Amino acid sequence: MRKHIFNAGPCKLPDSTLENVSKAVLEFGNTGQSIMEVSHRSADFQAVYEEAVALFKEVLNIPEGYSVLFLGGGASMQFCMIPFNFLKTKAAYVNTGTWSTAAIKEAKMWGEVEIVASSEADGFTYYPEFTIPSDVDYMHITSNNTIRGTEIFYDPTSPVPLICDMSSDICSRPVDVSKYAMIYGGCQKNLGPAGVTFVIIKDDFLNNVVADRMIPTMLRYKTHVDKESMYNTPPCINIFGVKETLKWVKAMGGVEAMEKLAIERADMLYAELERSKVFRPVVKEGSRSRMNIPFLLREGYESLEKEFLDFAKTKNLVGLKGHRSVGGFRASTYNACTIEDVKALVAAMQEFEAKHI
Ligand code: PMP
Repeated sequence: MRKHIFNAGPCKLPDSTLENVSKAVLEFGNTGQSIMEVSHRSADFQAVYEEAVALFKEVLNIPEGYSVLFLGGGASMQFCMIPFNFLKTKAAYVNTGTWSTAAIKEAKMWGEVEIVASSEADGFTYYPEFTIPSDVDYMHITSNNTIRGTEIFYDPTSPVPLICDMSSDICSRPVDVSKYAMIYGGCQKNLGPAGVTFVIIKDDFLNNVVADRMIPTMLRYKTHVDKESMYNTPPCINIFGVKETLKWVKAMGGVEAMEKLAIERADMLYAELERSKVFRPVVKEGSRSRMNIPFLLREGYESLEKEFLDFAKTKNLVGLKGHRSVGGFRASTYNACTIEDVKALVAAMQEFEAKHI
């Protein structure tokens, strides 16, 4: 029996992705080869790659003048590649939790970093307001904070190139891509399996590379744009999984439909957290992510953490343990998470409450 999966990434994927990747592992099309055996330079795989790129451009409405890349190295590699390529003197970052902190750490190796806003003093429980300076090489934000469960739902207007880590909310709402010089993230939440990273980069922005810096070939964006992600062997099966997931997003009604469902799921769970006498939300209203919903036990019930996780398992609910840095629980409700999954969680929370109140 398939579980109700609330993992933070890797996470639940659409059934059609699982079915079609499985088939392609045994035989990819009519090639007589597995997707794991076929050459990345073959016409058959090139068609997969091109379809993944075309679907991404269509689903996210990516304008002309942007390149889409599917690379290895995870979003974490982007944390270092961005400043390596584009930080000449100073960059601005918003610090909204673990992942922006990691991005900031890398940037500091290449130049000055101005932290224009941070919610650290408040345990990262809200998304801070920020003003973008005009004297920096670029501005970096993390639109959704996977661990802390905060998110912004708009695309800021920026006087300097705007770069966004959208690892955990890509394709969960329409995005005005034209506002950004670059959007990137790990694919392992809303786009497919772990092991592949997406990069959407404005072609003009490539000219902003730090001219007098020695940048290794593999770490230059231009290398990957020029070679259409094939400078080295790309993660083929993962790209196939991304293509399948994007096909599903499109068939479901695109990012507008994803947003509607995301709001429905998050509202349902947050309503229960507000109502519950045993569980409580962590994140302040207005900043609450639709993708990652951390929650804690209310005062007097704190000792029940393990008991709830064990109880949840008996209800086929998995992946609810909170991140080690926050504790408590976290439900990740990405695109493939269904309303039924959230209903099952809410029902379990209510049954647990009835047993303990
Ligand atoms: N940014 C965000 C917002 C993330 O959630 C994660 C991973 N969960 C990362 C970056 C790091 O991604 P990766 O593991 O692909 O390096």
